[in-house]
Amino acid sequence: MLEDKNPQLTPISTYGEFGLIKHLTENFRPENTSTEISIGDDAAVLNPEGQQVVFSTDILAEGVHFNLGYVPLKHLGYKAVVVNLSDIAAMNAAPTQILVGVAVSNRFPVEALEEIYAGIALACKHYNVDLVGGDTTSSTSGLIISITAVGMEKKEDIIKRSGARPNDLLVVTGDLGGAYLGLQILEREHSVYLANPNMQPEMEGYDYILQRQLKPEARTDIKKTLKELDIQPTSMIDISDGLSSETLHLSDQSKVGFRIYEEKIPMDSLTISTAEELNLNPVTCALSGGEDYELLFTVAPQDFEKMRNHPDFSIIGHAVDLDQGNYLVARGSNELVALNAQGWDAFLNKDKE
Ligand code: ADP
Ligand code: MG
Repeated sequence: MLEDKNPQLTPISTYGEFGLIKHLTENFRPENTSTEISIGDDAAVLNPEGQQVVFSTDILAEGVHFNLGYVPLKHLGYKAVVVNLSDIAAMNAAPTQILVGVAVSNRFPVEALEEIYAGIALACKHYNVDLVGGDTTSSTSGLIISITAVGMEKKEDIIKRSGARPNDLLVVTGDLGGAYLGLQILEREHSVYLANPNMQPEMEGYDYILQRQLKPEARTDIKKTLKELDIQPTSMIDISDGLSSETLHLSDQSKVGFRIYEEKIPMDSLTISTAEELNLNPVTCALSGGEDYELLFTVAPQDFEKMRNHPDFSIIGHAVDLDQGNYLVARGSNELVALNAQGWDAFLNKDKE
């Protein structure tokens, strides 16, 4: 950790709890008109001005969600915000505020928290959200970051998981599978490093997928694009756990089945070549890998012309009646492969067998 390298780092105890909170948050200034009272009082006060308020919380725990052996703290702060904003974007709402809870052990110096807050500040600026509060406590072991994001939207524009109808088109933004492959490269190089700390990590040429893993972005831009195209999706979700499991969530909530065409799943060329290098099936990485933070949504069949050939969107399939189930239509053969919500670990073990 940081301590070993630099003896001049500051122990958290020099600040005390209140001093630390002040130190970490003093440069945050609210920019949104919906923020009435920010950090410093007993609670924040927001003014939604007639809009509905959308909330979401995610906890990131060291050793479970991130490994500080290869995740830089600034990236961790940024990503912790992004994963929450992605949930707000998946409701088609605009994120406006966040609250940040941190539990930290005394093995972390103040400088480590400064790095995390530098990442949080960067995300706040990039997405125009205000940090309006949080909580800080000590922990006996690892680092835990819990972020609550708040967003606002007119009632009629909020999109749930439940509105898809048979024949609706299934659409995804961006490309998939990259974040999972970025993680595989980070883990590979980290174990090489643990085995022999003198070995230089071989990360060159993997930039795009490393960025997908370490510095993902929330698709808060899609809301505007859809508005410009005059498209109101019928259902929407963000891809945190993989295309397969998110499609099953839409199926479950909307009471429809889905067909996904394997050849239509968007993947970057580096994702495909890295999967091949690691003996993984790239489509499996897109279906079960997760952490891509793209949006998956359905639109009415009449919107086909508006979506077709748009650089942000890929039409990957369509909804069918619920009793027809959820299947991937295999490339070439048209064979149907059942979609399943494999967990992260199950996925890993299967591919390593
Ligand atoms: P209380 O004792 O009422 O919970 P705190 O001392 O925990 O108050 O917090 C004081 C103020 O600082 C509050 O406005 C709170 O929201 C904010 N705050 C506390 N911890 C953090 C943090 N890690 N990040 C941002 N704001 C924080
Ligand atoms: Mg508190």
